[in-house]
Amino acid sequence: MAIERTLSIIKPDGLKSHVIGKVISRFEEKGLTPVAIRLQQLSQAEAEGFYAVHKARPFFKDLVSFMISGPVVLMVLQGENAVLANRDLMGATDPKKADKGTIRADFAKSIDQNTVHGSDSLENAKNEIAYFFRETEIHA
Ligand code: UDP
Repeated sequence: MAIERTLSIIKPDGLKSHVIGKVISRFEEKGLTPVAIRLQQLSQAEAEGFYAVHKARPFFKDLVSFMISGPVVLMVLQGENAVLANRDLMGATDPKKADKGTIRADFAKSIDQNTVHGSDSLENAKNEIAYFFRETEIHA
């Protein structure tokens, strides 16, 4: 087992439905410790840059609009196999297909308002963490 870091974002719908505490509790209960946290209103440029890999996808414009529709919680989670552990806690992208007991199954409304983002590989986690956090903001 390796100690990893991953980037988690609680998306604007999660803040509007007041589940920040519940989401973070799920991480902590499974040994994923927030080692950096910031509440932030993303700019359009920040959201577009973060999701640049999806630029050609039909949902890109709506995704960016949604991500800047209100503040988000940016977090670095640290723990054993953090990337996969976080993805397991999140559930499938479409909450209708997400396993029972996952964050998306329990809190998300739709595939486009699905409450959380989580890095999908260790390499992406490193890049996504560096996109939002300086090393001095991470307190392990
Ligand atoms: N998304 C969407 N419509 C789709 C597919 C994805 O709005 O048909 C959004 C959704 O918010 C998702 C994000 O784009 O979380 C990134 O998609 P990805 O396939 O990377 O899913 P994730 O890694 O978030 O599960």
